[in-house]
Amino acid sequence: VQLYLSLGSNQGDRRQNLQAALSCLNIDLKTPYKAVSSFIETEPWGFESDEKFLNAVALYELNLPENYNPEAEGLMILEICKDIERRLGRTGEPEYDEKGERIYRSRPIDIDILLFGDNRIDCEELTVPHKLMYERDFVMIPLQEITGQAGNDENVIPDLIGDLKKAPSQKVECLIDCRLDRQ
Ligand code: ADP
Ligand code: MG
Repeated sequence: VQLYLSLGSNQGDRRQNLQAALSCLNIDLKTPYKAVSSFIETEPWGFESDEKFLNAVALYELNLPENYNPEAEGLMILEICKDIERRLGRTGEPEYDEKGERIYRSRPIDIDILLFGDNRIDCEELTVPHKLMYERDFVMIPLQEITGQAGNDENVIPDLIGDLKKAPSQKVECLIDCRLDRQ
């Protein structure tokens, strides 16, 4: 089952944070990633900061039994991601302002689940496909880079995300090509 994760860092040694997160994921997901995008530098999304992000998308091919439970499995993957975020120094729960809007802050690492096979998951802690992915160039650009690369069965991705809505708003400043060798 194909699992697409989005990774982002805008604090500390960002490249090292992304690499450390990928190494942890390789171990905790019990398989090395199948593809990883370029690391791209982007403006913060949803808040003001001088600390730009380094973003990437990674693809894992998970070996799951045919009758796996998508929600249970998805929540386990989310726990793995959150645990790695904590180990890499991220603290605190998500915060909301008085209108209930999310407050975004700088962070050493953020790992989000974008797509998990063709599953749709909608529970309190987890929504897959990720709710905001179509609006975020920092997600869609690296995602498109590796969906091409991974020799994907073209049905899987487009089916879920329609015709890749383009967000004109966000500036993706410079492309840093530092793809990693598989670990
Ligand atoms: P953000 O990723 O929006 O910057 P957080 O990483 O703090 O914010 O995530 C806030 C919450 O979003 C998490 O605690 C998690 O339960 C929830 N969440 C819902 N859907 C997803 C998803 N697809 N991937 C990751 N987290 C998700
Ligand atoms: Mg997150």
